[in-house]
Amino acid sequence: MGLECINFKKAKAVLLLCLVLFSTIGQAGQPLDKVSLQLNWKYQFEFAGFIMAKEKGFYEDEGLDVELLEYQENTQIVNAVLGQQAKYGLLNSSIAIAEKKILPTVLMATYLQQSPLVIVASKNIKHPADLIGKKLMGAEEELRFGLLALMLDYFSVNKRNTQFIPHSFSIKDFAEHKVDAMTAYNTNEVFELDRQGIEYNTLDPQDYGFSITALNLFTSFPEATNHPERARKFIAASNKGWRYAIDHPDEAVQVIIKQYSSKKSVEALKFEAAVVKKLMLLDFFEIGEANKDLSLRLVKQLKKAGLLMESEQLGAFLFKDVVDDFSLNNDFTEEQLLYLNAKKEITMCVDPQWMPFEGIEGAKHIGIAADVIKGFEKLLPIPIVLNVTDSWASSIAKGKTRECDIFSLVAETPERLEFMDFTKPYLTLPVVLATKVTKPFIANLTQIKSRPVGVVKGYAIAEKLRNSMPGINIVDVESINDGLERVRRGELYGYIDNLMTISNSIQKEFTGQLKVSARLKENLSLGLSTRNDEPLLNDIFSILVKTVDEEKLQPIYNKWVVVEQNETIDYGVIWKLGLAFLLISFLYLYHYLHNRRLKKELIKLSTTDKLTGLENRLKTDELLLKRMEDLKRYEVDTSIILLDIDFFKKVNDQYGHLAGDGVLVEFSQILTHNVRVTDSVGRWGGEEFLIICPNVDVKAATLLAEKILDKVRAHSFVGVGLITASAGVSGFSKELSVTDVLGLADKALYQSKVSGRDRVVAT
Ligand code: GH3
Ligand code: MG
Ligand code: MG
Repeated sequence: MGLECINFKKAKAVLLLCLVLFSTIGQAGQPLDKVSLQLNWKYQFEFAGFIMAKEKGFYEDEGLDVELLEYQENTQIVNAVLGQQAKYGLLNSSIAIAEKKILPTVLMATYLQQSPLVIVASKNIKHPADLIGKKLMGAEEELRFGLLALMLDYFSVNKRNTQFIPHSFSIKDFAEHKVDAMTAYNTNEVFELDRQGIEYNTLDPQDYGFSITALNLFTSFPEATNHPERARKFIAASNKGWRYAIDHPDEAVQVIIKQYSSKKSVEALKFEAAVVKKLMLLDFFEIGEANKDLSLRLVKQLKKAGLLMESEQLGAFLFKDVVDDFSLNNDFTEEQLLYLNAKKEITMCVDPQWMPFEGIEGAKHIGIAADVIKGFEKLLPIPIVLNVTDSWASSIAKGKTRECDIFSLVAETPERLEFMDFTKPYLTLPVVLATKVTKPFIANLTQIKSRPVGVVKGYAIAEKLRNSMPGINIVDVESINDGLERVRRGELYGYIDNLMTISNSIQKEFTGQLKVSARLKENLSLGLSTRNDEPLLNDIFSILVKTVDEEKLQPIYNKWVVVEQNETIDYGVIWKLGLAFLLISFLYLYHYLHNRRLKKELIKLSTTDKLTGLENRLKTDELLLKRMEDLKRYEVDTSIILLDIDFFKKVNDQYGHLAGDGVLVEFSQILTHNVRVTDSVGRWGGEEFLIICPNVDVKAATLLAEKILDKVRAHSFVGVGLITASAGVSGFSKELSVTDVLGLADKALYQSKVSGRDRVVAT
């Protein structure tokens, strides 16, 4: 028996030895890949996952030799990663911004789903609004922009009513009551306050609906696209390290103290471990889960706060999306790739004067097509180079002489097929006739008989119309402006082009003079064309055109089709343009009917109020029910504000319904500009609006309502002047139904009406 036992033990030892040998041989066979991770602070528990992944050999198991780079004063984390001095880096935001533009970082994972940055305040300050009139210490950027700034702004705490002073980074100032409040990290300073027995209240932006992620792992585009496997392994091993650190916090604390840093005490690190675990929100998120919606929301918040340019688009930034987009390259065949590499660059001709579709400005391609082509360029191994011309006709001429390989946006015609091949269209637009405003609307183009109508020389539609309507009198014009100008002067009866360009030009230069008076049967379908003596080029661009869908086009349209409002609003024109844009939207919808995304668009349409663009009654009702569920399930406080414009009937009577509609639109904008992104604003009925504020109690909601009424009072409504509104506020509670809460708000609103209007009443 004894002997057997010894033998068994021996066998086990041999087996273990074999395993160890085998694994070292395995690793020796394949040398480890050296990579580095730039940390965004000094060694502490916040980095325990990465430290444990290294110490426990999780990185090594994936074939990686990881160097952790501790933060030094002046380390430029984003630059270090984009310049590839470090392969990966950590940031307390999911996107990086410089000079109001989004930098090209790729988000690999998010470890803290909430930020540890808070305000600590003396005991008597229980709410952000209580900071008014007090002394608040914080780093300049924290108070001027970022998460805390968004919260302070929401509760109207600003430099005019509160004393902001620079951060000394010493909690002594707070302890000795030199300041009433200061910014702090839940992971660090808060522990020190507790340890010294200093009393404080925490004002956490998260409690008021403002959130941002922290500890985001990111990399550069080249690293993500050239080494996706390595990045994937790094993520997997880091996630495993985090799982380990969370499950064995004491061990992780010991490793940090003994091998990395002795700056923090065991106690402080243990406290930090508990906070970090909490901020990972493990009940809701997988370890490392990166969330696209949160980043989109952040972009919206940053734009609203003026920290990001309006025109900035987020694009693909999640590691998975970036890799998926890029792997499209694998769709190119060997032959196609060889052809491209031999070709070195692709020359492109465009229409220099066809905004918003495309144009040339400072020798650069701009407009809708330019943005689509930029997307293609990311997927191609060689660049696309613009061949600058001064007219569409000379671009076409260059196509014939093979001076351009592709045309960015062009319609297929029999004539053009002689020298180019076409991809499937990626834009489809209705074609319309513009005339003077005094001319009648017509149902059929034959009604204009042989009256002269202009079309830009060489445009495909002329060829089509001459074929389908033999009697038509088409006059060549140089450009859209030339055509419209000649219509204005009466030389031409009308001008034919697609709806988008015509609306754009009328609005910019011919407001009140020209209008859209007919819709033609023809549609304009535009795709990309390639020289037909190099057929591989067409196969390649056909693959690229397939990547364009409505979801990608919508933000591009929004960027280039701007509805500008003139000083004096001509409602007639706005209405018609509005209708025109609506028509365009429906046509796009129709065009993508077979697309699965249509469902989403339709849902949006059916939940949006047409006049104001706010959520409609249906959607608002649905949200109320959802918030009630949240209250019952997660104890989330919610308040509602019901607003009604005062004496609105008079506005209609005195200035007309169109002016009234204008007031409703402007009023809605005041509401949306003054609420948080987590609040929702709905049109409840005619001139009644409902704001739902999750995570806000009745007191704070009342402050918000007062702020809004202030803004309304201060606003001069176009063509109408000053108006006021009344508001009623109520809060959710578990004992009440949604109908009860609405009833309370309605009662409060009634109270504010009967007690003189232009005020807020809360229940
Ligand atoms: P008060 O609320 O201060 O008691 O007075 P009021 O004049 O605003 O009264 P009430 O709420 O009864 O009137 C609302 C008016 O709003 C009635 C209706 O003609 C007008 N209205 C409702 N929907 C629209 C709309 O979409 N456009 C325009 N222009 N007017 C609308
Ligand atoms: Mg009313
Ligand atoms: Mg009213």
